[in-house]
Formats: sequence, C-alpha cells, structure tokens
Amino acid sequence: MEKKYVIAFDQGTTSTRSIIFDLQGKVVAISQKELKQYYPQSGWVEHNPEEIYNDQLDTFYNVLLESGITPEEVAGVGITNQRETTVVWHKETGKPIHNAIVWLDKRTSEICKDLKEKGLASYVKKNTGLVIDSYFSGTKLKWILDNVEGARELANQNKLCFGTIDSWLVYKFTNGEKHVTDHTNASRTLIYNIKSLEWDNTMLKALDIPKSMLPKVQSSSSDFGSIQYNNVSIPIYGVAGDQQASLFGQGGFEPGVAKNTYGTGCFILLNTGRKRVKSKKGLLTTLICSVENEPVNYALEGSVFAGGASIQWLRDKMKLIEKASETEHICQSIPPLKNVYVVPAFAGLGAPHWDGKARGSVYGMTLDTGREELIKATVNALAYQTKDVMNAMEKDSGKNIFTLKVDGGASANNYLMQFQSDLLNIEVDRPKMIEVTAFGAALLAGIKAGVWSQYDINDIRKVDTIFFPKMDEDARKKNYKGWKKAIKRTKRN
Ligand code: ADP
Repeated sequence: MEKKYVIAFDQGTTSTRSIIFDLQGKVVAISQKELKQYYPQSGWVEHNPEEIYNDQLDTFYNVLLESGITPEEVAGVGITNQRETTVVWHKETGKPIHNAIVWLDKRTSEICKDLKEKGLASYVKKNTGLVIDSYFSGTKLKWILDNVEGARELANQNKLCFGTIDSWLVYKFTNGEKHVTDHTNASRTLIYNIKSLEWDNTMLKALDIPKSMLPKVQSSSSDFGSIQYNNVSIPIYGVAGDQQASLFGQGGFEPGVAKNTYGTGCFILLNTGRKRVKSKKGLLTTLICSVENEPVNYALEGSVFAGGASIQWLRDKMKLIEKASETEHICQSIPPLKNVYVVPAFAGLGAPHWDGKARGSVYGMTLDTGREELIKATVNALAYQTKDVMNAMEKDSGKNIFTLKVDGGASANNYLMQFQSDLLNIEVDRPKMIEVTAFGAALLAGIKAGVWSQYDINDIRKVDTIFFPKMDEDARKKNYKGWKKAIKRTKRN
C-alpha cells in the first residue's frame, strides 16, 4: 500500500502527543494527553516512565483510530522528547527501578559540586560541550545508582539499562529489542564525548557508571527498530531531542541559521555546521540532528529562563492582562518606550550573564509609566534577552547570524516579532505551521523512509510572515544601551 503519512511522537514535559502528517507536511490528526507531575520533595520533579509509555501508546492508537488511517499507509514514526530526563530499568523485566528524574530536578546539586571540586569543569566543557549542572542526565543516573537499593549491584551484573525518554520509548515500543538513542539526546547526558562520538570514559569513571548500561548511539535519522500494530510493522526512523528537532523542522540545516522557540522559556540554537565552537560566554555546544552516512553538525545553544513565563506573571500575579494574546494590541497602541525596562530575572539570569542571585526589576519609571508601559517593557524583555544570547553566539562563533527562525506560543505576537527584528537588525522568519518540533521528528523519519529529502523542506515549510528590521540605527543602539545598563544594575555578582 502507498505510504502517505508520517507519525511524530512528541513526548514533552507536560504532555504526550501523537501527530500524523501527510506528505505535504500538513497535520492530519493529533491526539494528546496531559502528563502527571510528581514532586516528592522541594526541588525534586519526577515522571512515571510507565505512564509516559502508556500515554504514548494511547495517543498512538487514538490518532490512528480517529483518523481512519491504516498502519500500512504510515512510512515511519519519528520521536521527539523532553531532553535530559533520566530513566533506569531492568534489562530482563523491562521495569523501571525508579521514577524518571526530570530535567528540572535539582537533587543532584551536591554531586555537581563534587565534580567541580574534582576540577572537571574544563574537561566537561571541552569534551561534552556542557557545563556541570544538575540539568543534565549523568548526575541523575549516578543518583539512582547510589540511592535505589540494590541498583549498583544490578548495574555491575549488567542487568540495568539507562536511557533518556526517547531511548525508553524505543525500548518499550520494540518490545525490548532495541536499546538505542540518537546523537542529540546523547549530547545532553554529560557522559557523551561530542568530539569522538563515543561514551566518555573519564566522565563514566568520575560518576561511577558502568558502560554496559548505556544505549547504542546512532544517527537521528536511521533505523531504530519497529512497532508491531495489528500484525503490521511500522518502523521508527527518527529520534531527536525537542530543541534540535525544532531546528531541523525549521529547515535549519545550514551554518549561520538560528532558531528561537518562544515558550515558557526561550531556547535559541545556532547551527555552526562542522565546527564545534567552544563557548567563552557560557553557552552550550551540542550535536544537532544527524542523518545516516552524513557527518555530524553542531550548534551553540543558549536559553532564556523567563520568556512566556513573564507574560504569565503579568496575567496571574500582576493581573494586568487577562490573556497573553492581549499584549500584542496593547504594545502596538502606545508609542515606543523611552527608557523603561523590565528585567525578568525571576529565577536569576541565564546565558550570557549567569547570575543565579539576580532578581526581577523595573527601571526608568516616571509618573507617565502606567499599565501599558509595564506590559510593553515586559514583552520587550523577551527580545532583549534573545539579543543578549545571540550576541554571545556571534562573538563565540565569529560569524554573523543572518536569519532567525521562530516558533513557540509567544512567536504569535506580531509586535514582539517586529521588535525582535528591529533589535537584531536581521529578518525574523515565522512559518505557517506551528508544530515545528513534531514536524522535525517526522522529517527525520520521512528522510530515512525515503518519502522526503532535506530539500523538500522548501516546499513543505510555508512562511507565514517575514519581519524586516525597520528601526533606525540610532534608536536601536540607544534602546540596547539602556537594556545593558538595566542588566548591569540587576546583577548581584
Ligand atoms: P510551552 O511549550 O513552554 O508550554 P508554548 O509554546 O505553548 O510554551 O507557549 C506558551 C507561552 O507563550 C506562555 O508562557 C504564554 O504566556 C506565551 N504566549 C502565548 N501567546 C502569546 C502572545 N500572543 N504574546 C506573548 N506571549 C504569548
């Protein structure tokens, strides 16, 4: 039967979805379930891996049943997942020995402190592209081995498997046949060497992790085994972490292309091609989606902690708006701000400032400053913070960024996108399709299945709006100078 569809599994922090795309890249059907969060202690966040698998399975069945599409018509499945979240399960029973420890979880900060004291920071940066932080999987895995009764013995007897969520889902969907992961997910573990493309012995030793429990790492677009559905075999042909999948779904294949996902936080990735740029500005170096038999490529990554979250703050705490989307009209209805800045350092400042102690502040208010001005200054802060990260990326890579491709909830805001283009003085390109991350995973699978090639992106990815810079140079410089001053005043270190 003719292969007319590709399915994406999109397993995120708060929800699990299955999405069917047709070969024109159009979303044909979606099924979604909210994911239950567990907070066993302050700073701890867990998911139940069995629930994740069951939710993925349910949405997969639902999306096929509701759309009436038969498994024979599906060319393949691509998986994209919340990154860094860590699962350990028993090799024989396939049962997790502990809940999944979620990327947000801070319980391993002591282990991180210990790694820093051992003088590993520079080694980590050079070989894994990361910084020592509880965010990444390695220390979470060590925590499970150290704290779950009997885990270390089982690990030493070669009876345990470690995986990020992609790896866990593949294992379950292939009935335990495949214990694998892809380059993008491996590059977020703190134990994978992004130069040699092998698990890193020094880090494994430092964290006391046996190599036998690690998945095999393969290209993001390659054969990850098959799912049996009503006696039909559906191949899993794509796997990638969510931010890298979004860069791929945006068609960000060339060096110099950057993307920003404006969600709760903002995640910015700059494709640096074959070049592995070591950041001097606190950015991460990471592997991007890889295609079988082609060399791997790298990106610089930076994130903004308070993106859309600060719009939620305007709504829920300040009660200045009822809906996030109202901000667009309000920002457009008043003249450009003169020297009013909100620095939303609610959870400290991330790259390139790295100041955990900084807190949110407002500068430059006069008696004219009212509700609208405060709202506009908060929306502007998403663009200013993005510019800070992108400036750092340009300095680190020594290259000019020529386009910013955008997605995520707040990219719907036309005022924000125009202001972003004005500040960066480059084009901001927003696609029609909003399911960019899921599409990235589908594209990886479609390439391996032979129904798409990377070049098809130009036909599939339809532009909604390109925002061109309109602000004059003087205003751009003045605005940004004011922001930098506000940042300087906010910093505590
Ligand atoms: P996530 O995937 O992180 O949950 P989404 O991509 O769904 O985030 O985006 C939701 C975020 O975007 C929310 O924080 C919300 O406040 C913000 N947001 C949504 N629409 C707009 C808008 N029109 N203008 C500004 N912010 C918006």
